[in-house]
Amino acid sequence: MTKNTSLEHIRNIGIMAHIDAGKTTTSERILFYTGKSHKIGEVHDGNATMDWMEQEQERGITITSAATTTIWRNHMINLIDTPGHVDFTVEVERSLRILDGTIALFCAVGGVEPQSENVWRQAEKYNVPSIVFINKMDRAGADFFKVLDAIKDDLKAEAVPLVIPIGAGDQFEGIIDLVEDCAVYYDEKDSGASYHEEAIPEEWQDTYKEWKQYLLERVSETNEELLEKFCADEKIEANELRTAIREATHLRHIFPVLCGSAFKNKGVQRLLDSVVYYLPSPIDIPPVKGILPDGEEAERTPKDSDKMSALAFKVVADKHMGKLTYVRVYSGTLESGSYIYNSTKDKKQRVGRIVRMHANRQEIVEQLYCGDIGAVIGLSDTVTGDTLCSEEHPIVLEAIDFPEPVLSMA
Ligand code: GDP
Repeated sequence: MTKNTSLEHIRNIGIMAHIDAGKTTTSERILFYTGKSHKIGEVHDGNATMDWMEQEQERGITITSAATTTIWRNHMINLIDTPGHVDFTVEVERSLRILDGTIALFCAVGGVEPQSENVWRQAEKYNVPSIVFINKMDRAGADFFKVLDAIKDDLKAEAVPLVIPIGAGDQFEGIIDLVEDCAVYYDEKDSGASYHEEAIPEEWQDTYKEWKQYLLERVSETNEELLEKFCADEKIEANELRTAIREATHLRHIFPVLCGSAFKNKGVQRLLDSVVYYLPSPIDIPPVKGILPDGEEAERTPKDSDKMSALAFKVVADKHMGKLTYVRVYSGTLESGSYIYNSTKDKKQRVGRIVRMHANRQEIVEQLYCGDIGAVIGLSDTVTGDTLCSEEHPIVLEAIDFPEPVLSMA
């Protein structure tokens, strides 16, 4: 990041999913589209997706990176890898601690499984807002509304569709957008052509009206201004609705629901748009808390001018770069070449080079600004869960009790 990326334009997110729901496929699509939007992907024909992804898989850097930085619509999205297996509960918690929002991914056929429930509870514990993506709408037996009910019943979550699917299985063609009031039909490049309200097919009109009403009701309940308009039967503009959805999502009062098929390139770009619209930036979340040496509680605000504080959330051994310590900077600026203090270990440390991992390259950066995520090369004594800060202003950030350091080969 350069200082051009303001804090409001950062999204630190992860994908939570039950195994096999399509997390890898969705991540690859996200990296493809975000890479493409930056001209990283090379070709523009219909097969570009596969060519590019095969290459990426061969190189093996795409998904194995603990945090991958991508750009979408002028926003920097740091996609943090969250393990989807139930055995890695601690790992899930560790990553939830440092991200600001998640995409909760469900299979349109399998729905809510015990594992998904576990991960959902963890996100609840850390108060992380989520948007829901019901994937695999193209599969036989896909049932959007059944999965929606399961989310509401099993997870007790106020899941509110922002779209409803047009068809399912091999008849899945697109969506009706309940915020914009239009129908969107996807082609194989995921670029939906959108039409106006009148173009919503006749047979879908009743379903559309029913769910639009539901959306307005649920969102109005969270917002007084909207409620007044809703009760007075006044028109609520898409922009107002979007702002209210964003605010309610940040507070976990609602969970916006989208759907599509990552495998068939349907709906992933809309999902990215929703990440930008609805999930919080580092300044939308409460300041991080910590403990000062005298035992007092303190907060650090997401400002470059505040005292530096960062949390190490993953340590990996990289074949080429050696020991990589992934950090999230909460306040101040982490400078390469500077000396910092590991307050958890009571050790002074020198910051070596700092890298930002992109899907297809590593970028050496001079500093990480607050709100940002990157990896420091060669921090000798730091393990997962440690706080890094300035020696003059020590603090130990509220961290999860990590039972043991993790060192895995990337
Ligand atoms: P993960 O375990 O959650 O990472 O799931 P994967 O992304 O590896 O996907 C599991 C399987 O589901 C793979 O065979 C994918 O090709 C397939 N898959 C993923 N997304 C979709 C989808 O939208 N539609 C269909 N039909 N298959 C999908």
